[in-house]
Amino acid sequence: MFKSAGVRSIRRAFFGLSLVCLAVILGACAHPPTTDSGEPKSWVVENVASKSTAELYADLIAPAVFERSSSKVIDGYTVESGKLRMPDKSEGSLVTVRTANGSLVSLVNKPGKSGLFLVNKQGLSTFSPEPKFDPAVEDGIPSPDEKVATALVNSASEDPKIVDVLLGYSRAAVNRVGGDVMAHALSQIESVNLALRISEVSNVSLRLVGIQVVEQNYPTTTGTLGQLRTIFSAGMAEYVPDIIYGFFDSTPEDTATGWGNIGGRAGIGLARSINTYRHEVGHNAGSIHCNSNGGAKYHYGYNNGKTSTILCGESTGYYSTPALNDEFGLPRGDAVTADTARIWRENAERLSSYAPSRPTAPGNFAKVGSTASTITFSWNASPEAVRYEIYSVNVALDPLPKKIGDSTALTFTATNISGEALYFVKAVSSIGLVSVPSNSVVARP
Ligand SMILES: [Zn+2]
Repeated sequence: MFKSAGVRSIRRAFFGLSLVCLAVILGACAHPPTTDSGEPKSWVVENVASKSTAELYADLIAPAVFERSSSKVIDGYTVESGKLRMPDKSEGSLVTVRTANGSLVSLVNKPGKSGLFLVNKQGLSTFSPEPKFDPAVEDGIPSPDEKVATALVNSASEDPKIVDVLLGYSRAAVNRVGGDVMAHALSQIESVNLALRISEVSNVSLRLVGIQVVEQNYPTTTGTLGQLRTIFSAGMAEYVPDIIYGFFDSTPEDTATGWGNIGGRAGIGLARSINTYRHEVGHNAGSIHCNSNGGAKYHYGYNNGKTSTILCGESTGYYSTPALNDEFGLPRGDAVTADTARIWRENAERLSSYAPSRPTAPGNFAKVGSTASTITFSWNASPEAVRYEIYSVNVALDPLPKKIGDSTALTFTATNISGEALYFVKAVSSIGLVSVPSNSVVARP
């Protein structure tokens, strides 16, 4: 059914385009896809920048309706997500990340048809079907013994937690996802946040804090998973993430689509898969695959015979939860054996606590003296600080703060000062993390 619908809709989309192609007979004008054989399909959209995002994906998602539940702009990228609803009420999901130049990265999960949909700024459009995933293949391994950075005060807390994520890519993986690594990274983060939202996990969300690209590609193996923080050590130091994931391109040595530390903070997977990240980060939360061994802990994914969840079958974008039913009225989880939503809630604090805390900002920053060309400041100590950085802002010269000195004491004298400027201080910890600014002071000699 989906095959014939897909063919018809794509043909309709390119009816007008084909005339153009025949007229100019350019090699770059690829044929529209005609089958769902599992191979990537490419075609061209004219004047892509003038098309709305909905126009770009309309034929791919038809006859589903996009029920958009989130839309936001992050660093100039428009990130949208929500459910796809088929006429028979079955559900899928859609994530789109559009850039100002018209290009698009989209994660399409239509029932029966999932894949990575890329449109570049020239209008070249490619749909790559999702590789088959077999939940019988184990890809989760126990986490190495790792301490979280802060003591867990209340692991059942419902306070919203934000998990800071570093996404690493090999150069080959960046090329595989169309070249706009930021757009792809944002789409992957949103795919997890959408899954959490529709699974009614309200106390945790993921936030992209950094991306690092390395030139070398690595196989998707447990060996690479073990080396991940070394491979992306520069990003670990610069962005101080809670959790990390690496995207790689396929190699003959791959042993799975992805690997993740169960109850840990690291995962890896093939960049051509749109669903592996939300699966592996589910392992990080503490969940495992289908309950095939009769286990009685609630950390399994779920297959109710009609629909299945992330970590067990992946036919829907839900984490297992007994609180929700599917379109057949069947539960999406089981309170005794399959409640990944609960696993997420209970592990939110752990997942958000791997990153070392930034030092507390110094307090009570004040001018305490001056001469004709100097100003002396003092401040209260930050408990975690080993030194302090002093900044000034002279808006008339430059709106950006400029570092004017370091101090290991709780006082600093700025020299060669003439006019009025704004000043503040930041604390720096022993591992180089910098606090937010102290209170600021407008001062002149
Ligand atoms: Zn797995």
